[in-house]
Amino acid sequence: MSEDCVFCHILDGEIPARVVYEDDNVLAFLDANPLSRGHTLVVPKAHHERIDDLPTADRNAVFETLGRLAPSVEAAVDADGVNVGMNDGKAAGQEVPHVHGHIVPRFEGDGGGAIHSIVRTRPDLPDDELDTIAAGIRGAAE
Ligand code: 5GP
Ligand code: ZN
Repeated sequence: MSEDCVFCHILDGEIPARVVYEDDNVLAFLDANPLSRGHTLVVPKAHHERIDDLPTADRNAVFETLGRLAPSVEAAVDADGVNVGMNDGKAAGQEVPHVHGHIVPRFEGDGGGAIHSIVRTRPDLPDDELDTIAAGIRGAAE
């Protein structure tokens, strides 16, 4: 619980929300400023800012819930697809410092873009640099 966290105040009932799913580890509710009909947020009940801060059980619960709820959200609003994603860290656009995943329903012709449209720069990376990056990620993930 963090006193100055809006999602913690949804979790403690102080701020109302349209809850769509709840279990011991997560709460899912409609986004108050939706990007589309049915835009849903999934948050761990414990306050953690970044994915990297989450204990394994909470991380598994958040991602499992995103995967399971996405088709339900899509069906409920009769969407044609969904974008599922997280803004993890300020540089990535995270505004609420409590881990949350977005399920954003998408509709044919809605004018939106793919996840690839979030970042418009396309670095031209030579093969040896790609090899170095891949090795670095493998090393960091060990
Ligand atoms: P972020 O940019 O941090 O990934 O997204 C935060 C999201 O939380 C935004 O989409 C915003 O509309 C949503 N949000 C912020 N405050 C509230 C609130 O009080 N209630 C609900 N339901 N959503 C909120
Ligand atoms: Zn919080």
